[in-house]
Amino acid sequence: MPQKNGFTTTILHSDRRGSVEHGAIHKPMHASSEYAYADSRELAAVFQGKAGFTYARQGTPTTAALEAKVSQMEGGVGTVSFATGMAALAATFFALLRAGDHLISSKYVFGNTNSLFGTLMGMGVEVTLVDATDIESVKQALRPETRMVFTEAIANPGTQIADLRAIGDWCRQEKLVYVLDNTLATPWLCQGITLGASLVVNSLSKHIGGHGNAMGGAVTDTGLYDWSAYPNIAAPYRKGSPTSWGLLQIKKKGLRDMGGTLSAEAAHRIAAGAETLALRMEKGCSNALTLAQFLAGHPRVAKVHYPGLPSHPQHERAVDLYGHRFGTLMGIELADDLDVFEFLNRLRVLILATHLGDNRTLVLPVAHTIYYEMGAQQRALMGISDNQLRVSVGIEDTQDLIDDFVQALA
Ligand SMILES: *Cc1c(COP(=O)(O)O)cnc(C)c1O
Repeated sequence: MPQKNGFTTTILHSDRRGSVEHGAIHKPMHASSEYAYADSRELAAVFQGKAGFTYARQGTPTTAALEAKVSQMEGGVGTVSFATGMAALAATFFALLRAGDHLISSKYVFGNTNSLFGTLMGMGVEVTLVDATDIESVKQALRPETRMVFTEAIANPGTQIADLRAIGDWCRQEKLVYVLDNTLATPWLCQGITLGASLVVNSLSKHIGGHGNAMGGAVTDTGLYDWSAYPNIAAPYRKGSPTSWGLLQIKKKGLRDMGGTLSAEAAHRIAAGAETLALRMEKGCSNALTLAQFLAGHPRVAKVHYPGLPSHPQHERAVDLYGHRFGTLMGIELADDLDVFEFLNRLRVLILATHLGDNRTLVLPVAHTIYYEMGAQQRALMGISDNQLRVSVGIEDTQDLIDDFVQALA
């Protein structure tokens, strides 16, 4: 048994240690749509569950190599990749939930995930949104039909941090599937398996890819959940070890039937990006903390929402969970006398763009963009003011980011 390597070494050597042709250090981009067999019995065996490839909608050697890396990063037993993070989330919910089932979710979630809950409700799945920063509100939502609990590791965009460990303990006790969206923390800050998560979802478009040039998503099974206790697994997927049943159903019902497949080219780009995840996160988190501390003391900034600041309501939990690295996302409320559009137009280094987890620092006025659709009344209820910005901090030289804020705030 070789010695267990660290996070980055493991990712860097993952392809080379698998089956790779000609001694290449990267798994190549396999463009083939179909996979042929010389022996008809072998073809049948692969259709019947033997490891192998048939048709690229269900995966290619290139996506499989990326899936192996994500499993290693998360410490999980298996991963299925998708075209986007939303495809991964949709496949998970639609493959595992049925009409009449009940899902408990944090109310602090990514807007598109919240929109997806609306679709699920239209199809008869009950969804209760709770304040998941408080374990008691999660527990109070329990019903006999509850199947699943969902939360994000660090909420996009509010940066709230749910009581992830307590939720994990409680889900184990109640035999509930615990789905953790780890996109903002990434497996470098947080492995869902250490918190009791059953399934971990990552948008690979964000930090794991990191370069803003490829979309992807992944679901990883941590191996902690005993799927024989889960009523919605169809008969053909109740085969072999129960640890693998859930992911098999996600792969068959979610990926094969819904078809949100990751392309080989995107998988290859994401895999190259993943090699530097730890380095980029180290720099991005350090930039974000420095910037948050600077902005919190600036007279023209009314409030900074960042888990690394002692003023953040879950600061101590963040220290406990993530050990003094607090992610790259922050919310900033400008002072009332600043015009948010004028301020944004003065920025020279920060880019006015949606997306997050990019090498470059990106900024967005939230009320006018990602929260526009919900209307002013709902925004007021959620405490979102017109001069609130979402900043995703990149890996630029720290002083350049500070200087850009200084000149734009002047
Ligand atoms: C961006 C994001 C997603 C969706 O990922 P895409 O790859 O853009 O589809 C899901 N969850 C969170 C927390 C995100 O930030």
